[in-house]
Amino acid sequence: MDGGARRRRPLRAVLLGAPGSGKGTQAERIASRLGVPAISTGDMLRDQVAAGTELGLRVRDVMAAGSLVEDDLMAEVVRARLARSDAQRGFLLDGYPRTTVQAETLERLLGATDARLDAVVLLEVPEEILVLRTLGRQRADDREDVVRERLRVYREKTEPLVGYYQGRGLLRRVDGDQAVERVTAAVLASLGG
Ligand code: ADP
Repeated sequence: MDGGARRRRPLRAVLLGAPGSGKGTQAERIASRLGVPAISTGDMLRDQVAAGTELGLRVRDVMAAGSLVEDDLMAEVVRARLARSDAQRGFLLDGYPRTTVQAETLERLLGATDARLDAVVLLEVPEEILVLRTLGRQRADDREDVVRERLRVYREKTEPLVGYYQGRGLLRRVDGDQAVERVTAAVLASLGG
């Protein structure tokens, strides 16, 4: 109605999807449209690795192998990030949660301040497109064997979250195999604006 980017109520949402599904691209676009921060755990961890911090040194090899960083370590990273002031007016999470344990952690972290998730948007992209897209990038963990491992880990550990959030009535499915702008429009529509 007001035509502006700001919502009166905070929007707390998660973008879910396989590696290469376009979460990072869409998270930035959607978050800026909604006036909330895009929180990418992958970017946060890569920054730590690049800066050579203690956390960066702990996660570097795990990331390079395409495996998941431990849930306990991620819980602390996300707790600290969600406690920052910019996240109090909502957020769009990209790359977290990635396991059922992480989903439960997120619920607990939000519950501590009487907050809860509003929506989980699943970006659906066929497997062969995911591999092509990811191999087209220039990231250290984008070698073909590592890409295949990240997809395997996604199917095994992260895909169960689809049912988890469906059961809570939070899941919205969006076709991620279309032009970037169309995906953005579809995600915004799925979030009710
Ligand atoms: P992509 O979206 O391409 O799968 P990300 O940039 O989200 O990759 O994450 C890169 C890597 O960072 C993951 O493969 C994993 O090692 C680590 N990582 C990011 N988020 C998490 C998380 N929530 N739990 C565990 N590991 C994570």
